[in-house]
Amino acid sequence: MALRFYNTLTQRVEEFAPLEDNLVRMYSCGPTVWNYAHIGNLRTFTFVDLLRRWLQARGYRLDHVMNLTDVDDRIIQQAMAAGQTLEEYTSVYTQAFLDDCRTLRLERPEHLVPATAHIEDMAEAIRRLGEKGYTYQSDGSIYFRIASFPGYGKLSHTDFSGIRAGVRVDSDRYEKSDARDFALWKAPKPGEPSWDTVIGPGRPGWHIECSVMAMKYLGETLDIHAGGVDLTFPHHENEIAQSEALTGKPFARFWLHSEHLILESQTMSKSLGNFYTLRDLLERGYEPEAVRYLLASVPYRKKLTFTFDSLRSAAGAIERLRSYKLRLETGKFPAGTSEALLERTLAAVRRFEESLDDDLNTAEALGAVFEYVRDSNSAMDAGEFRAGNSAAALELLARFDAIFDVLTTTANQGGLSDAQIEARIAERNQARQANNFTRADQVRQELAEAGVILEDTREGTRWKRR
Ligand code: AMP
Ligand code: ZN
Repeated sequence: MALRFYNTLTQRVEEFAPLEDNLVRMYSCGPTVWNYAHIGNLRTFTFVDLLRRWLQARGYRLDHVMNLTDVDDRIIQQAMAAGQTLEEYTSVYTQAFLDDCRTLRLERPEHLVPATAHIEDMAEAIRRLGEKGYTYQSDGSIYFRIASFPGYGKLSHTDFSGIRAGVRVDSDRYEKSDARDFALWKAPKPGEPSWDTVIGPGRPGWHIECSVMAMKYLGETLDIHAGGVDLTFPHHENEIAQSEALTGKPFARFWLHSEHLILESQTMSKSLGNFYTLRDLLERGYEPEAVRYLLASVPYRKKLTFTFDSLRSAAGAIERLRSYKLRLETGKFPAGTSEALLERTLAAVRRFEESLDDDLNTAEALGAVFEYVRDSNSAMDAGEFRAGNSAAALELLARFDAIFDVLTTTANQGGLSDAQIEARIAERNQARQANNFTRADQVRQELAEAGVILEDTREGTRWKRR
């Protein structure tokens, strides 16, 4: 069976292939950098990472754009309260977001683009929408007239035809019951940042930024547009209205939405105050791989209830896989190959791949791997696992880890391996014996910078990672 995704637009699971060759043009909505991301936000970004990785595993190249919303109502409010410029305020949270992505091993999109670097493009798009008769002005702000776009509601499958024309909403985020003409451009207010543009002074609304940046980098029709389920309305509905009004072409072919992460029966959110950041979890001693595993383990269209028990189970699951890998790498197995076991391995690979092809069913894919590991461990215990079976088993783990990416520990990632550390310590000992204390101190310093602490004892030098 081919690769397929549930498409919110058609409300069906559909076979996926890009419009052109093997290049997937994809846009996903990025963070609003007004605060630290919580692990609910990070669940959505982890889903996008899994999607990227699986598309690549299936042989596609990617052109993926993600925005950084670095101007919006919340940011302006917070920056003003802190007495900072927008840039001073958002740079901290942009960096924190990038750090979180690196910690969770989220692949960087081909284009990661801040909204404030594209204000002129947005103003130009709004000017063109005006020319085509989709907008009107009121008190220096410009609104999109939703009654002028007949397809309004097709993504959220809502009939908005009864909505009173000319009633406006200024805030970027609102509920379906508040569906109104929305702000494309907001009039300048005293003390608020504003830009001088072809349509006058002001600042863009949130929705126009995604339409403009998506089409600027990816063309008029995207293969995939992704984001959290709460963005379906109004954000993505508005993106469709703006983009299709401009081009007359379908804006995105596949719309993928990931469900929320839940904490104690409620959606995790900053405004409800029920959230954990990644930092909170790492400070409690959990490994980033455990967080990544947990976020990836529930299929993206199912709600994921966060508990510390589930985080501990995730850590346990990773440990089982790591031990199995070590056993494969270091175990002594009788010569030859068990054909039955080889077939069992290949069947596990097939089930793993078919599960991910099936709208990224990560739970089923993990099931395939764990059942295989259990069977394989039993075969080792029974002496049935042969030396010739290792390669295929390691290949299964490699395919698993190309997507889930949890087998290497963070301490060793990009840092020094144990052997490298031991070699540096031997070098330092030699320098000390030769009374070259400058050199010895230099090595200690370099190791410290790599996060390795040395302790000289009578038995020799001990070390640990910070
Ligand atoms: P924001 O920074 O508020 O623009 O949100 C960034 C992303 O996180 C969006 O795609 C949201 O849909 C998503 N999101 C917000 N809350 C949650 C949650 N509790 N679980 C999963 N995703 C969420
Ligand atoms: Zn967006």
